[in-house]
Amino acid sequence: MSSWYGDLAIVLRDLPFSVPALPPLRELNAVTCKALQDQVTMAMKNWVWDSIQQMVSVPLLHGRLEPRKDGPSQRIPLCQRHYLSAVTVADHRLALTRLLCGSYHFRGLHTNLADHLPFDLVCRKCGVERETPGHVFMRCLDPQTVAARQLLHDALYQQFRVLLLYPLSLANATLLMQQLIFDCATVVPMARFIYRVIRAWHWFGRRLPTMVSEGAPDSDDSLGDGFGPGFRSGTEDASDLDVDGIDMWIDM
Ligand SMILES: [Zn+2]
Repeated sequence: MSSWYGDLAIVLRDLPFSVPALPPLRELNAVTCKALQDQVTMAMKNWVWDSIQQMVSVPLLHGRLEPRKDGPSQRIPLCQRHYLSAVTVADHRLALTRLLCGSYHFRGLHTNLADHLPFDLVCRKCGVERETPGHVFMRCLDPQTVAARQLLHDALYQQFRVLLLYPLSLANATLLMQQLIFDCATVVPMARFIYRVIRAWHWFGRRLPTMVSEGAPDSDDSLGDGFGPGFRSGTEDASDLDVDGIDMWIDM
């Protein structure tokens, strides 16, 4: 027999994660309702966390800790992220957010690398190693990317006395990016750097058939670099348009 209580039971049953069954109606009260609400919330947060951990398209979100001004960074599955307020330049914030959420497509991110030819996984700029965010941003020796990285190095040292060292492995490169992004201060120059590199690699918005797309549904800008005509207008200064006087747009 259908009832509002039966409908609620169906909703809970159909959730993508396990929650306790509804208590008998006669046991329903403020205390049992609150307990059930807390259990559903906790299960939902754990499901979100575990789902992201399993997505190969978002390696920068794996194990992330949210920085806090009043204490050490914490694991927080759902919250308004620090970069949404810390990064005040809209273009930089957009570039960073899209990178974190897997909206750019990297050749070297696949669930099973053995299913693909090695050539189809390597960096489209240098061809040296797998094209992952860690390689592209922190290890690739493409001249324009190196120039943008030098600007990041200078900004980190001048503002925070942080030395940007060349990571010795792809894993270290990913960790280094996470350290710089998940920090309330260094995220600002890091977002500017990401913006600069993405402009130079503007095919990131294009998905090839073999690419991972689990976290990036098709969108209107899937055939472009993801930024509209006003992309250049939101920067702090004109320095974002060029690196050392080089036009960063490359047609491939
Ligand atoms: Zn490369």
